[in-house]
Amino acid sequence: MINVTKSYLPPLEEYVKHLEGIWERVHLTNNGPLVQQLEQDLKQYLGIDNLLYCGNGTIVLQMAIKALGLTKEIITTPFSYCASTNVILWENCTPVFADILPDDYTIDPAKIERLITENTEAILATHVYGNVCRVEEIEAIAQKHRLKVIYDGAHTFGTTYNGQSAFAYGDVSTCSFHATKVFHTVEGGLVTSTDPVILDKIQQLRSFGHRFDDYLDYGINGKNSELHAAMGLCLLPRVSDLIAARKERFGLYDTLLDFSELQRPSLRPTVQYNYAYYPVVFRSEAKLLAAKAALEAEQIYPRRYFYPSLNQLPFLKSTQPCPISEDIALRVLCLPMYPDLEFENIEKTCKIINEL
Ligand SMILES: *Cc1c(COP(=O)(O)O)cnc(C)c1O
Repeated sequence: MINVTKSYLPPLEEYVKHLEGIWERVHLTNNGPLVQQLEQDLKQYLGIDNLLYCGNGTIVLQMAIKALGLTKEIITTPFSYCASTNVILWENCTPVFADILPDDYTIDPAKIERLITENTEAILATHVYGNVCRVEEIEAIAQKHRLKVIYDGAHTFGTTYNGQSAFAYGDVSTCSFHATKVFHTVEGGLVTSTDPVILDKIQQLRSFGHRFDDYLDYGINGKNSELHAAMGLCLLPRVSDLIAARKERFGLYDTLLDFSELQRPSLRPTVQYNYAYYPVVFRSEAKLLAAKAALEAEQIYPRRYFYPSLNQLPFLKSTQPCPISEDIALRVLCLPMYPDLEFENIEKTCKIINEL
């Protein structure tokens, strides 16, 4: 069975070495030495000084909203995973959906500007499929209207833009280290901020809002454990190789697929890409469904991702029309993409799609 992604695991002995240390120290969580080591190594790898390793890629978004003091309207993208809208609702803010650009499916800065009201406090945008948003234009809008900017960078680990990590942009950037992502710690998340005061606040929120006996604010449990950090320490030195392996598979899809019937999102100039996903957009939803069924008949399981367009989530109290996102979400399918995906399975996948 070929799934859309497959988690990468390090050699077991390497992980066991870390476990032996954990068993000796009997320090399992609460900012232990492996968590601290992973944070140091991430700083080095990403070239970012202000970051925290956390429980997952959702809690970091929630803590970002809380730390920035947001309570009203947040302009966000309809083309993302449901977590990026859920966190806005969970924090009792109102999501306002700005439609996406037709070429790379990231939020359209011109549409953001039209939705700004006196209640707008922030922009929460997603770097889609490992590509990067229009960060300069978003920054200019935020400056002009005094808005905060949060980037959901769950897909962009290892991506650089203008030679800098994608996480260097916005007031706060986040990443998910879930088992299916480019770099993972089974479950895990990252938050970075250009503002040390905000990061300090998030650090406080991460551990229930208290420092020893000082109960400063109502926080949450946003921490992660030594066992999770150990996985990260095994995988981080391999990330460049894993991205290179993805790139090779990406290239094979590019060569073998017949693009007369398919569309692919474009990449921003100066992006050094992490090859996180391989989405293809069909001419119609019917064609997508036919391809999906044909692949599944051969035990190949692509995924409708992102789907649905988040402005159409059934539990929203209010929403905005986003025709481009709604259309792309109906027609986009992510094909299998992971570092040890066999070339013959890519050939098989392409053959099935091309024959339809
Ligand atoms: C995976 C993902 C998340 C959620 O991350 P978790 O670590 O699973 O909580 C949020 N946003 C996007 C865009 C994602 O792809």
